[in-house]
Amino acid sequence: MAEDKLRNWIGGAWVEPRTGAYLERRNPADTRELIARVPASGPEDVHAALAAATAAYPAWRLTPAPRRAEILFRAAQLLIERKEDYAAAMTREMGKVLEETRGDVQEAIDMLYFMAGEGRRLYGQTTPSELANKVCMTARVPLGVAGLVTPWNFPMAIPSWKLAPCLLCGNTAVLKPAEDTPLSALHFVQALTDAGLPPGVVNVVLGRGAEAGAALVRDERVRIVSFTGSTNVGREVGQIAAAGLKHCNLEMGGKNAIIVLDDADLDLALDGCLWGAFGTTGQRCTAASRIILQRGIAAKFETMLAERARALRIGNGLEPGVQVGPVVNATQLERIAGYVAIGRQEGARLVLGGERLQSGGLAQGWFFAPTIFAGVTPQMRIAQEEIFGPVVSLLECDGLEDAIRIANGVAYGLSSSLYTAQVNAAFRALRDLDSGIVYINAPTIGAEVHLPFGGVRSTGNGHRESGLATLDVYSEWKTMYVDFSGRLQRAQIDTGE
Ligand code: NAD
Repeated sequence: MAEDKLRNWIGGAWVEPRTGAYLERRNPADTRELIARVPASGPEDVHAALAAATAAYPAWRLTPAPRRAEILFRAAQLLIERKEDYAAAMTREMGKVLEETRGDVQEAIDMLYFMAGEGRRLYGQTTPSELANKVCMTARVPLGVAGLVTPWNFPMAIPSWKLAPCLLCGNTAVLKPAEDTPLSALHFVQALTDAGLPPGVVNVVLGRGAEAGAALVRDERVRIVSFTGSTNVGREVGQIAAAGLKHCNLEMGGKNAIIVLDDADLDLALDGCLWGAFGTTGQRCTAASRIILQRGIAAKFETMLAERARALRIGNGLEPGVQVGPVVNATQLERIAGYVAIGRQEGARLVLGGERLQSGGLAQGWFFAPTIFAGVTPQMRIAQEEIFGPVVSLLECDGLEDAIRIANGVAYGLSSSLYTAQVNAAFRALRDLDSGIVYINAPTIGAEVHLPFGGVRSTGNGHRESGLATLDVYSEWKTMYVDFSGRLQRAQIDTGE
């Protein structure tokens, strides 16, 4: 595959898009560099990929789960060998600093190893029957073809969260990665292919969401839809999936909060807030975009945070020592600038940043200054809506109860965090913070693959990625009864009374 002109991966072959159309992907740290020409696929390309996935399904379904798992295991080993190359390519493709893109590849490795272990478990249940000479058991069974739609901010990790359990359970798949990060998705699938995955089991169709993505989730051959992205798109995808009676899991936006009480270790909280707010340039679904400070320490913490944020090194993520890379594209840059303008209009106090950075080596990239707003009140739009950039709002609270009320007072419920030295406060927060993930004395980011990941309310639709919980997305329970009594036995009727 020549990396400057990409192809779709369909039925074990590189295929030109039938549309003949391409998009351009440029390096966000230096837009003069063309990373790839990306197929702008249409419904016909999706149909070809679905035909390949449908044809590959019968044999893959009957491949024993431990054999399927061995392929995942080998793919993990290949990713270890290729980690540096794939991480560097990811930094060039979407801007995250190298340390973080290595982490992204590592997350895919972790997920493959975790799911490979499941190949020899994938446990069902055996239970006593209410009738004599009868056995009852359950097993997880695959559904068929999955349509997987992923965002750009974790361009290898998120495809791995979906593909590893999907394949382990015996489904085949068509992946539609984000238009900004085709390479990382292809690298992941390349590792699976080199590890021995049969042709057609995974197919990749590149292109725009409204064209390729929409055609994929709508198609009746797709029995599972797994989507990660914004809440607006997710809601639409969910409606389409519901009409087709498909399995559907939606992982969507967040507006995550870190609470700092006045008894907290402030230096520890500072490290957490800095990483939570500005790590990945704030472009994580779990990024801390609100920091809720108990009044007594608010002024001091604001000064401490501004000082540390001002010192962050911003630049090309491939350069050693750079801590914050560019934002992913020009649209995001405009969106972030738009929210800064909104914050100002709403009367929030701009403490730091607030503008595009264009001096020195940053002139050719999509860089935005780490931005802090103080004096933010809970109902302001910058405290309610997902910005998805290096912008954090400081709010004040009277104490734990008030903080929890503010933290929960948004549409989203992905991740939240509390810094405190009080054990009682910690356990109250664990109980009362209304989010899928809660951290104590750690920032809102840092999920591990063997635990469930996902959120409540506008963040999710009741399913979880990763952990064992994700198996419920990619399998159905089959319940099996074997009666070896040699006569008709009727449940609930032949009770022996
Ligand atoms: P997005 O919703 O714009 O796009 C996500 C994916 O959906 C892309 O592949 C896109 O091409 C596709 N898409 C767009 N329109 C579509 C349509 N009509 N039909 C089918 N597919 C369509 O999101 P994004 O900008 O790529 O990612 C950022 C968002 O993702 C943020 O809101 C962030 O919070 C969220 N996110 C959530 C999680 C999570 O696990 N909860 C993880 C990462 C990112």
